[in-house]
Amino acid sequence: MSSSISENPDVVLIGAGIMSATLGTVLKELEPSLDVAMFETLDDCAQESSQAWNNAGTGHAANCELNYTPQRPDGSVDISKALEVNTEFDLSRQLWSYLVARGKIADPRTFLHPCPHMSFVWGEENVAFLRQRFKEMSAHHCYHGMEYSEDHGQIGAWTPLVTEGRDAAEPIAATRIVSGADVDYGTLTHLLVAQLAAQSGFAVHYKHRVVGLARTADGRWRVDVHDIDSGETRSVSAKFVFAGAGGGALEILQKSGIPEGHGYGGFPVSGIWLRCDVDAISARHHAKVYGKAAQGSPPMSVPHLDTRIIDGKRSLLFGPYAGFSSKFLKHGSYFDLLRSVEPGNILPMLAVARDDWQLSEYLIGQVLQTAEHQFATLRDFFPRAQRHDWQQAVAGQRVQIIKPDPHRTGILEFGTELVACADKSFVALLGASPGASTAAFIALEVLQKCFASRLTPDGWLGRLKEIIPTYGIDLKQDAAACRSIRASTAKTLKLDFV
Ligand SMILES: Cc1cc2nc3c(=O)[nH]c(=O)nc-3n(C[C@H](O)[C@H](O)[C@H](O)COP(=O)(O)OP(=O)(O)OC[C@H]3O[C@@H](n4cnc5c(N)ncnc54)[C@H](O)[C@@H]3O)c2cc1C
Repeated sequence: MSSSISENPDVVLIGAGIMSATLGTVLKELEPSLDVAMFETLDDCAQESSQAWNNAGTGHAANCELNYTPQRPDGSVDISKALEVNTEFDLSRQLWSYLVARGKIADPRTFLHPCPHMSFVWGEENVAFLRQRFKEMSAHHCYHGMEYSEDHGQIGAWTPLVTEGRDAAEPIAATRIVSGADVDYGTLTHLLVAQLAAQSGFAVHYKHRVVGLARTADGRWRVDVHDIDSGETRSVSAKFVFAGAGGGALEILQKSGIPEGHGYGGFPVSGIWLRCDVDAISARHHAKVYGKAAQGSPPMSVPHLDTRIIDGKRSLLFGPYAGFSSKFLKHGSYFDLLRSVEPGNILPMLAVARDDWQLSEYLIGQVLQTAEHQFATLRDFFPRAQRHDWQQAVAGQRVQIIKPDPHRTGILEFGTELVACADKSFVALLGASPGASTAAFIALEVLQKCFASRLTPDGWLGRLKEIIPTYGIDLKQDAAACRSIRASTAKTLKLDFV
């Protein structure tokens, strides 16, 4: 799907995952005349983290992920982070609805399916936590419709695999929101890139790896691109560059040489799933059921038992079991971590190694886990799981951000961060959580950071409000707007609404 390379594009998007595809889509909707070039090392889009089986496909709305709702020392639960994530997902829903309504995505069912989101815990202490969490969340309009139960029969009606074979005397609790979603971000990325490629002024170049980036005297960026087939390297001159390169973004940031990127490093976390394709089993589970993370574990390794619907086929996914690999991308090199170490980030990286020993201990423990141990964790969720029904699958790589910190020299972050140069002509997206589900939020952040002067009533603002009708409205505060936009996006996207 490659056409001739534009020598002076307005925008270069590095990487063909969900993030570049989403930003490219928004930019072309706002300014159809923009000349946009997308470069991707691999031979297709969405082959790394955005590929359907490389992630869990949760439409993260912080309905069920307990790591977004920490308990305070006084027993109350802080739901502020959950509310942020919850309303960020509304932005993705609006962008997708806009594209469906305009026929740019023919049928939302190709990438999106209604799927209840549940939290499930066992043990007195965890039950007390979930009860308190429910009390605080269900009082907020953003969590309208959340249900709670401690009853084995009720929870079994919601998710039979989780209760069958469980001691009826064991204290358990669950919450459920039926309006959740399972998202195939791989298919979505393909749909977005396809509708972009159908527009004039957009070209995607596969098997083209960005190998260099330098500021030129005229204020533009020289982007050096290596053509993997021909072995040639050529350069284009871009006004704006977005490094949406997933695990490759740190390398691009380092190549850019911008002072704002000084001191950043990366810590790779790999993942393994257990996957079940047996129809008789997957037909009996219709939910994403998130549990509580083990002590010291990174937030993205919270175990969950998920319904996945990919290419029309229903499967179950359990995990992820986090691990350590020195690669920054699944198709990357074992030298990625070593190559990322430079004089500027070595102290922050050593500080993280010193301070985050709980994480190191956890990851080492995970790596040493045998298949038996992994299966035992699945059985905590699904007591009657049979070994022969499940196979191991390798998940995507995530590179967590290590950044300089005035107090601790370096800290490890689990979120995402946009690092831009002073004049905002280059921005790199580092980190991977909450992830693909907040791609529209990230695209808006790029607009606000890098194209602020265009977001005016005479500029892009009117168009942006057509794409994101609640732009400028805080859905955490405005209950009526929240309800109304959820009702309309649910209808367009064929999701459940309560
Ligand atoms: C185990 C796991 C579970 C997850 N679960 C969820 C979930 O349930 N819900 C959710 O919303 N998110 C989830 N995520 C996160 C989500 O997958 C990522 O945030 C998202 O896919 C990142 O998209 P991206 O476009 O930034 O990166 P990617 O999809 O990784 O794409 C980056 C692309 O850049 C290319 N590239 C890199 N370097 C270069 C270069 N120099 N030149 C050209 N191309 C380059 C790569 O080949 C790749 O194709 C999960 C991630 C993992 C690993």
